[in-house]
Amino acid sequence: MAQRLLDAGFAEADVVVLGPNDRKGNMVARFRGKAGSTLKPILIIAHLDVVEAQRRDWTTDPFKFVEKDGYYYGRGTQDMKNSDAIAVANFIRMRKEGFVPDRDIILALTADEEGGRSNGVDWLLKNHRDLIDAEYALNPDSGTVRTDNPPAVEFEAAEKLYADYQVLATNAGGHSSLPTPDNAIYHVADALAVLQKSPFPFELNAVTREYFSQMAKLETHQIAADMRAILTTPPDPAAIERLSQDPAWNSTMRTTCVATMLSAGHALNALPQRAEANVNCRIFPGHSQEEIRLTLVKLFNDPKLSVRTRNSAGEVADHGTDRKPMAPAPLRDDVMNALRGVAGKLWPGAAVIPIMEVGASDSVYTSNAGIPSYGICGVAIDRDDERAHGKDERVRVDSFYKGLEFYYLFLKALTSPAG
Ligand SMILES: [Zn+2]
Repeated sequence: MAQRLLDAGFAEADVVVLGPNDRKGNMVARFRGKAGSTLKPILIIAHLDVVEAQRRDWTTDPFKFVEKDGYYYGRGTQDMKNSDAIAVANFIRMRKEGFVPDRDIILALTADEEGGRSNGVDWLLKNHRDLIDAEYALNPDSGTVRTDNPPAVEFEAAEKLYADYQVLATNAGGHSSLPTPDNAIYHVADALAVLQKSPFPFELNAVTREYFSQMAKLETHQIAADMRAILTTPPDPAAIERLSQDPAWNSTMRTTCVATMLSAGHALNALPQRAEANVNCRIFPGHSQEEIRLTLVKLFNDPKLSVRTRNSAGEVADHGTDRKPMAPAPLRDDVMNALRGVAGKLWPGAAVIPIMEVGASDSVYTSNAGIPSYGICGVAIDRDDERAHGKDERVRVDSFYKGLEFYYLFLKALTSPAG
């Protein structure tokens, strides 16, 4: 990709490949804007790595780019070599046209989003902040286009924070013929029963407020009325209750914590010496892992239980990290107007809807570094054809080309003085 940009006439100084080692390279390319512009650049981040794929599971070879029946097949065609290619192709197209944006546009194609220890966005921010410093960032790793009727362009402007907690009870144990009220399994079971009946409080932020107000226009009847009713002050508790029956809306309205694993006891005829559950939480922006840990301690209200955090390596610690979720990005007029304009041109009548993702992307790094980040992707994936990380990953050829056109028009709208 660096070579293609150089071949298209980019200056060598504006196309660099760098990283902590040869295997974890990141490409940073700068599309020069108007000389002397005082506007800070726009940054596009997109990861280059993909998750593993087994040849024996796939219909096609996952590591060959195959066009078949109107689709491109191959690992990364949805997540996210499609968007890497789109960004590079548009840099070349705009360059060939002699387009001069009103500020620099930076493209960072990076390593280790899906896994690994050398996350490229994190590494660039820590080691070469000057190369990618920007007014805001666009990350095509999230956001989608729904081509239902009416169509909708969803973009990510907030993310929840992931956390695991170990809930543990220990006991001296003993012979099961002589039970005592103090039983490790009952302590954990009681705590989980309390958790099940104690949803976290309803919350809104600017992103989810706009999400529900846009969705209310697409939904009908009771659901539309409920979405409006949760946006009033105070919100209608009955409407919250009804919308909470839908797992996605429930998760958009609050922090969620749920029991995901359970293990206890060591013999059929012994009192348990140990009982342990994992509680997995998706934390609403604005709260830390430690704050939620303390909330669980208070909720369980049982001195026989310990509640500790567990990291991705499985290590348990007494306190949560103070890492907070990505700060919700402000719904800036310039970004929103450009997005609405281009979406309306390519998908007439499309609603433009901000979403809060329940997972995390590289936007957490840029966002936490003070660069507001938007997950915007113009490639439509059919409903029920979400195959990222899965078998026979594919993208419609016409969706790909429309996504290419989308980013071309979108970047121009964002960086043309006339808008
Ligand atoms: Zn991805």
